[in-house]
Amino acid sequence: MKTKLILTLVLIVSIALFAFTNNDDSQGIPISTTPQKQFIVVLDAGHGGTDPGNNGNGFLEKDIVLDVTLQVGKLLEAQPGFKVIYTRKTDDFIKLKERGPVANEADADIFVSIHCDAHHTQAYGVGTFVMGLDKSGKNLETAKKENEVIFLEENYEESYAGFDPNSPESLIGLTIIQEEYLDQSIMLAGLIQNNIVNNLKRKNRNVKQAPFWVLHSSYMPSVLVELGFLTNNTEGKYINSEKGRKEMASQITNGIVAYKKNLELATNDFQNPEITDDKIDEALKVSEKKIYKDIDFRVQIAALGNKLETKPENFKGLKGVNREQEGSLYKYYYGNTSDYNEIKILQVQAQEKGYSTCFVVAYKEGKKINLSKVLNTEEK
Ligand SMILES: [Zn+2]
Repeated sequence: MKTKLILTLVLIVSIALFAFTNNDDSQGIPISTTPQKQFIVVLDAGHGGTDPGNNGNGFLEKDIVLDVTLQVGKLLEAQPGFKVIYTRKTDDFIKLKERGPVANEADADIFVSIHCDAHHTQAYGVGTFVMGLDKSGKNLETAKKENEVIFLEENYEESYAGFDPNSPESLIGLTIIQEEYLDQSIMLAGLIQNNIVNNLKRKNRNVKQAPFWVLHSSYMPSVLVELGFLTNNTEGKYINSEKGRKEMASQITNGIVAYKKNLELATNDFQNPEITDDKIDEALKVSEKKIYKDIDFRVQIAALGNKLETKPENFKGLKGVNREQEGSLYKYYYGNTSDYNEIKILQVQAQEKGYSTCFVVAYKEGKKINLSKVLNTEEK
């Protein structure tokens, strides 16, 4: 859905800009004039140290996932434009609640957590999860198991604010931050899942939503891959093998690389010629208005735990950024207009500045409302 929006955007702004770029200097501008922004991937090897994860068939989840994670990192770092950050590179115990913040502090583009599943039956197959609660509650079992590591931490009652890994109800509140990145998380999860399933002929347990604590606090598309079941005799042996780990790592990498390419494709038309602030101003001047009365559209560029001054230096040069507090979170918005075409052009500008996952939100009388509902009503 987001891709469709971006593509619509590409079209609108391309048309608006066309009138201003058909002069001589629009030709032959090499793509390399746009400096390549690094795509930051945070890789999270599940468990570690005193937390072994599951040990189905005697295989150690913490060792397998660390090996696969390090291999993914190595493969990504060999690609141009990638920067990799790890939550752990050694056999250390890292608290669940410390993993998401690593990604937030790095201002990462994506967060990928890697695990192996376990079951008391011979269940098998690969599944990739995004944060959320599915209505059936069927996917809770895996999430509960992965969340249980919290019990290993001292004072977990205090540090996890009453969160009980065994109670689905207490998980509901955790899904809020990630909701905003759901489309992109699903896209990333789908690309990883399809690469593994199709290229390695693994059983497809699909992309699913479940409330994993480790996914809930990151402000970027975030997924958790369950490579398969160590408890299954055949699958466990495969995942534990050198071949299995290597193949899994290479397909996770393929999924991540494909995700980055998809994002670039969606915005590629803007990179040559480069979209300067002047061109955005020109596009704004010529764009047709599409006014929704009583609605304020804004581009949400960031949601952070810390309070930043809204000066341009803090926001990659964007002027007039607004900050609003929502719960424990500060949200930062660019633009404020009832003209939907204008906000889409401003979104392109924010993307050009590096906020590749920014999105449009709608407000009515100071309250955030559902954007798709607004757009489905007649413009006024
Ligand atoms: Zn695990």
